[in-house]
Amino acid sequence: MTRQQLALSALTATAVVVVVLVAPAAALALGAVAAFGALVYWLGRCHHRGPLGLLPPTTADDGTRLPARWYCDACGRSWPANLEQRDRSPIVRFSGYDQSKLPAAARRAAALEKQRHSLAVRRAGLVVSQRSSEATPANVTSISQRRAAR
Ligand SMILES: [Zn+2]
Repeated sequence: MTRQQLALSALTATAVVVVVLVAPAAALALGAVAAFGALVYWLGRCHHRGPLGLLPPTTADDGTRLPARWYCDACGRSWPANLEQRDRSPIVRFSGYDQSKLPAAARRAAALEKQRHSLAVRRAGLVVSQRSSEATPANVTSISQRRAAR
């Protein structure tokens, strides 16, 4: 305690003693009012140290969206948890396209379409000619040129 706090405490105690000695009825009434206020405050406040439960975000009966909330089981109050991100815009990882990949992608799409068609024809029990059921040759990339470059 600092010197000022000690002086303030002594002054307050002296004032209380003077009020009690001079006007005991007023001091009693003041004390009763203070005690009643403290009791109302003590009964009205929540007695839990921290939030007890976390309610997930839900949709109310009228269709409004309720965010995630903390819930106190004793007093039944709930309050927003503020866990949600403010910015809900999607994060762009890639944009545009690489034109050099277009021929390979078109080739793969054509091979996939041919394979699906042959599987559907086979599933239907139709006779498939040997030539149409041949798989397309794999696109093999030679690595000998790369090894020769080193
Ligand atoms: Zn509570």
